[in-house]
Amino acid sequence: MSDCIFCKICNGELNTEFLYEDEYVVVFKDIRPKADTHLLVTSRKHITSLKEINEVEDAKLMAHMLCLLPKLAAQLNIPGFRTIINTGAAGGQEIDHLHFHFLAGNLPKFG
Ligand code: 5GP
Ligand code: ZN
Repeated sequence: MSDCIFCKICNGELNTEFLYEDEYVVVFKDIRPKADTHLLVTSRKHITSLKEINEVEDAKLMAHMLCLLPKLAAQLNIPGFRTIINTGAAGGQEIDHLHFHFLAGNLPKFG
């Protein structure tokens, strides 16, 4: 989507540093980190949010994004991490392009 900032990042238009990339996802640092490590695992495909996921078409992508998280942690030598997916404005989502927050280090207790 031409006016989507995360599409632009994924396409390399904003010269963002990628910590990881493959044909499905791009991983980059959050511009306003909420933890020592705060990465955004972002689909290359423009999907507005989890609400727009197609269970059949996007199943492989979703599994890939989830399975990537522990691999990222291992690569970065991170012993544990938190994953957040804000969905919809009422769920705190600011950027309408699917991404998983990967947070580690100095996390407030949750739950
Ligand atoms: P959301 O609230 O949509 O789940 O998360 C969006 C996240 O994207 C926020 O944590 C925000 O700090 C981050 N963000 C917004 N604009 C940019 C940007 O241009 N570059 C990067 N790297 N992160 C961004
Ligand atoms: Zn997009």
